[in-house]
Amino acid sequence: MQIMEKVDIAIIGAGVIGLSVAQELSKAFKEIIAIEKNTSFGQETSSRNSEVIHAGIYYPADSLKTKTCIEGRQLLYEFCSQNNIPHKKTGKLIVAIDKNEVGDLEDLLKKGLENGVKDLRFLSKNEIKTLEAHIEAEAAIHSPSTGILDTHSFMKNLVFQFENCGGQIAYNTELIGLNKIKDGFEVSVEDKREGVFKFSSRILINCAGLNSDKVAGMLGLIKDEYKLKMCKGDYFRVHNNKAKFINRLIYPVPKEDRRGLGIHATLDLAGGLRLGPDDEYVDKIVYDIDGSKKKIFYESVSAFLPFIQLDDLAPDTSGIRPKLQGPKEGLRDFIIQDEAPNGLSGFINLIGIESPGFTSALSIARIVDRMVKDFLKNKT
Ligand SMILES: Cc1cc2nc3c(=O)[nH]c(=O)nc-3n(C[C@H](O)[C@H](O)[C@H](O)COP(=O)(O)OP(=O)(O)OC[C@H]3O[C@@H](n4cnc5c(N)ncnc54)[C@H](O)[C@@H]3O)c2cc1C
Repeated sequence: MQIMEKVDIAIIGAGVIGLSVAQELSKAFKEIIAIEKNTSFGQETSSRNSEVIHAGIYYPADSLKTKTCIEGRQLLYEFCSQNNIPHKKTGKLIVAIDKNEVGDLEDLLKKGLENGVKDLRFLSKNEIKTLEAHIEAEAAIHSPSTGILDTHSFMKNLVFQFENCGGQIAYNTELIGLNKIKDGFEVSVEDKREGVFKFSSRILINCAGLNSDKVAGMLGLIKDEYKLKMCKGDYFRVHNNKAKFINRLIYPVPKEDRRGLGIHATLDLAGGLRLGPDDEYVDKIVYDIDGSKKKIFYESVSAFLPFIQLDDLAPDTSGIRPKLQGPKEGLRDFIIQDEAPNGLSGFINLIGIESPGFTSALSIARIVDRMVKDFLKNKT
């Protein structure tokens, strides 16, 4: 692809975050380019997740994770309805498997309500049976506004809208270097066929997912608080037509550290059922699944999903969370920041956009849009 020598806005990464930002900005700005090292959009974390539209229950009320999830969920449902993106408001149960977990479940309900997820309801053992006859649980939280979507169709639609407004995506093009220049940034990229090319951009937006800390490092921002740790989540598919035994997504009570939400059961729009993801910190990006984990997955859910047998499970996909929180560390929020305080005004960093990043994407895009507009207002 022919890249212009000078653009207004360059976005690094065409995952769901880069694409949402690109689509939002293309409503007001013309010369925008998204740089993507892969052959197509959304081939990394954005296509390796649970495809769940989260309600916004789990994180602190004042965190970006909660605020963008709640706003993003509403925007996502609207977007899906308006653009015929396959989706379904399935609802979800978070289940306490015995009396010992009921206290934690009540705390979680309180937290979700405080966060503004107003439709949550506590269910007794008997009430659960009226909704889900085949699961075993002592009590549950019912979240009616949780759902699932076709993530690929959603991203494809963002690409369509962005390109329709004149935006460009350069595939097979890897960002290899950045320099601050007088009126913006010099961006060095490598196209696998055409070699190295440089262009300048007034504004630079880092949506590079698992590489976003390295992209920040290219402009000298090598900070401990930006360092990403990779936390892998594997999935096992449940065979033998067992999806018919549940009507909603079924989650356990999460662990205190919130590395993940606990191995849960998600339905997909094709009528399938998956278990996962687990959470395991890794050093390398390798998506292979360790088949020997099958027993652990089975044992994690057998108490509340008694209709699943060990032999129903087969390894499926995996994804890697770009986490700011290391093992045994406390919760960390998304970083969405204009780096003006670090002398890099016009450089907007998005780092640590792990779950619920997909749900949050359209809301995150609005935050970035406001930052870009503020930056330009202050310049004039
Ligand atoms: C196991 C798992 C389950 C999840 N489940 C859910 C869920 O159910 N619901 C939910 O809301 N969220 C979920 N998430 C989170 C969600 O998937 C992510 O927050 C979201 O996909 C992040 O999107 P992204 O665009 O930031 O990253 P990515 O999709 O990884 O996109 C980044 C892009 O940047 C490109 N890039 C990187 N470096 C360069 C470079 N140097 N040059 C050019 N291009 C570059 C990459 O190729 C990539 O395409 C889950 C995540 C995981 C791992």
